[in-house]
Amino acid sequence: MAKTPFELKGRRVFVAGHRGMVGSALVRRLASEDVELLTVARAEVDLRNQAAVFDWFAKKRPQAVFLAAAKVGGIIANNTLRAEFIYDNLVLATNIIQASHQSGAEKLMFLGSSCIYPRLAPQPMREDSMLTGPLEITNEPYAIAKIAGIKMVEAYRSQYGSDFISVMPTNLYGPGDNYHPEYSHVVAALIRRFHEAKVAGAPEVVVWGTGTPRREFLYVDDLADACIHLMKTYSSDELVNIGTGEDITIAEFARMVAGAVGYRGVISFDPSRPDGTPRKLLDVSRLARLGWRAPTSLEDGIKLAYQAFLREHQQAAE
Ligand code: GDP
Repeated sequence: MAKTPFELKGRRVFVAGHRGMVGSALVRRLASEDVELLTVARAEVDLRNQAAVFDWFAKKRPQAVFLAAAKVGGIIANNTLRAEFIYDNLVLATNIIQASHQSGAEKLMFLGSSCIYPRLAPQPMREDSMLTGPLEITNEPYAIAKIAGIKMVEAYRSQYGSDFISVMPTNLYGPGDNYHPEYSHVVAALIRRFHEAKVAGAPEVVVWGTGTPRREFLYVDDLADACIHLMKTYSSDELVNIGTGEDITIAEFARMVAGAVGYRGVISFDPSRPDGTPRKLLDVSRLARLGWRAPTSLEDGIKLAYQAFLREHQQAAE
């Protein structure tokens, strides 16, 4: 049963998805927690392979599990790789949640996403708006898989008394992001596009959509800090949103990225590209009551993300 506060110290802690942006931020954050960190390379155990996952958990018996393994991508990736997004994310959730239960894990955190809320949910979006209306169609397969994971956590709590919890991060960015020109999220896409335009001396940068959608962005190391805080102090079947509580239009955001990168040309918009959901801002009052707020401003976070891009870009070129 739930023990709060949950002591991480000295525990075997498994980060599923440690090579991803979120998982690697959790690994960085856990370095100051005095835990026995467990990770597993994909070549050793494909987390989509149920038998391999059950086997690995039976051997390693993690006591705390962060379920940060996911197939993720921006609006185009979600909308075109629809089968992969639903299949991979469902199977990752079912394998790891069931394996954690079977092998006696004391605590598990499932990471969802703000896209589980209805497309036209009242803003800012409260945790109880899940399943109150239709989803945004461009990322519906991903959202359905994440909702299934949340419902699993709820069901395991209710049937088995497992101390499993779910958190919903807003749009994330930072070190370890994916800079793929088509498939990335907007932050990584624009950092790369403005950087390349600056280097090439290009007169114009095209930003997708109308520039009017509003998004909230959280620096991934802040997310990791919030996750550790909640892992230690929170136990309930109610979700917890993790965000900054502030949003910005894509047009304003593009100007901010251009400023951080030092690009001085023209910014134009391509409305033939999808806008996605008009606004996505999380209500973070539950998180605030639980004693956490995001320390990194968007301006500072973008500067840090640009430095990370330059480092990662250079490493990739070497
Ligand atoms: P979303 O929050 O699920 O819609 O994910 P994205 O991060 O992919 O997109 C956020 C918003 O940024 C959408 O309105 C996009 O149309 C807009 N956007 C503008 N330029 C880009 C770009 O180059 N790549 C992506 N992925 N989105 C962009």
